[in-house]
Amino acid sequence: MTDHYRSLSFWHDSLPDDDLTPRAPLDGAASADVVIVGGGYTGLWTAYYLAKAQPDLDVVVLESEVCGFGASGRNGGWATQEVAVRREKMAARHGRDGVVALLRELCDAVDQIGRVAAAEGIDCDYAKGGTVTFATNPAQVESLKDRIAHEHEWGFGEGDFRWLSPAETESIARSPRSLGSVFTPHCAAVHPAKLARGLARVVEGLGVRIYEETRVTSIGPGGVQTERGTVAAPAVLNCTEVFTVELPGMRRRYAPLYTLMIATEPLDDSTWAEIGMETRPTFDDGRHLIVYGQRTADGRFAFGGRGAPYHFGSRLSPEFDRDDAIHDAVEGVLRWMFPQMGEARITHRWGGAVALPRDWQASIGFDRTTGVGYAGGYVGTGVAASNVAGRTLADLVLGLDTDLVHLPWVGHRSPRWEPEPFRWVGINLGRRLLAPAADASEARTGKPSRFLGGALRFLTGR
Ligand SMILES: Cc1cc2nc3c(=O)[nH]c(=O)nc-3n(C[C@H](O)[C@H](O)[C@H](O)COP(=O)(O)OP(=O)(O)OC[C@H]3O[C@@H](n4cnc5c(N)ncnc54)[C@H](O)[C@@H]3O)c2cc1C
Repeated sequence: MTDHYRSLSFWHDSLPDDDLTPRAPLDGAASADVVIVGGGYTGLWTAYYLAKAQPDLDVVVLESEVCGFGASGRNGGWATQEVAVRREKMAARHGRDGVVALLRELCDAVDQIGRVAAAEGIDCDYAKGGTVTFATNPAQVESLKDRIAHEHEWGFGEGDFRWLSPAETESIARSPRSLGSVFTPHCAAVHPAKLARGLARVVEGLGVRIYEETRVTSIGPGGVQTERGTVAAPAVLNCTEVFTVELPGMRRRYAPLYTLMIATEPLDDSTWAEIGMETRPTFDDGRHLIVYGQRTADGRFAFGGRGAPYHFGSRLSPEFDRDDAIHDAVEGVLRWMFPQMGEARITHRWGGAVALPRDWQASIGFDRTTGVGYAGGYVGTGVAASNVAGRTLADLVLGLDTDLVHLPWVGHRSPRWEPEPFRWVGINLGRRLLAPAADASEARTGKPSRFLGGALRFLTGR
């Protein structure tokens, strides 16, 4: 089984040898003060902050595979301040100050992850090098400058988001496609699986009981049902994020969107001297069909992109983690961005699904009457967001009246997705046809494609 987990991604494959040996499952019934379902970042951060705040609290984490099996172990390793919320809509409902507070909390979470990793001895290759978003055609120059203006409208300044000329960009990262870039310092590169596995060890050291290879089949007030028994608890937290769609009655909670990644072999020093990125910034460009990358601590590119099909009925399956055509396309973009990498081999291909709520708003909730809580819907930006979510869920469970529990994503309920086949048609039309068409049009005309961009937002709810 360890080999199976090791083959999930480059990140899993590069963990120390015995790191993926599963912990014992829970065999039979049990009880606890808090039961957390899902051993990804959301579940583990929640357990961490609960255990820190109240060391005598009996907290149990139930994980169907191993901690870090899901998105938390396989992602692009961007601990970024980006968050899946529609600011204007949220501000109209909850006020602008709340949205600004949430954005600031996310920036702080990037540092908080580094602080906890250092304090707890989690060696997760944390490097706060910021993010460089290249403009690779004139349309992207225009839309990225608009993005900076938008960030400044929300209280950020030049120190948070600023335009870099091509020469300034080169002092950080060199791509011959670059016409300049947006730089933000609010992102750290991490090794995602080391963070997840390390956090699990720390949490266990604080007295939290973690059971792996223990699948929960239903979640409700008073406890959960596993394949082998019930676990009774007055507080029950669903931290299964995209896998929530596999729980009874939850199929339309999120649309799972697959995003696929590759890793190169380690590049030699002379190649990195040409590319730069000494501070290990994360990078992307201004296209609609999102791509994202980082320079890993061992000198590879880890690079990913969206564009894989949405699967009918919100299906999740390991077979969807690999798609030759999409992986080839992702590789093509990386080689196009950085021709300096020459014939460098691709050593790993993998993927996973991100959770897309119908209104693109991540959310957190805890019902004090039933004792049931949840957090998720991060739309591919959950590394830092899950840290804030974990702190918030912990405060909610403990009944603390902190600033976190008043942030505007707390208590938000996204509408359910349309039934099939509407969901399948809408999402695939948007992500598979409109996004590439908008990128192609912008590359050709040099102008932002407002019509296709608008249609994309309409169809996908973004
Ligand atoms: C390829 C990829 C790249 C990404 N890149 C980035 C990035 O660079 N930056 C960023 O911010 N975000 C990124 N994301 C998103 C980010 O990884 C997620 O938002 C985040 O990890 C979600 O954490 P989580 O703990 O909520 O969910 P998960 O990590 O998915 O954890 C849920 C856990 O629940 C377990 N589980 C599921 N069902 C059950 C059950 N019935 N019983 C018990 N356990 C169960 C699963 O096995 C899993 O371990 C990416 C995602 C993917 C897939």
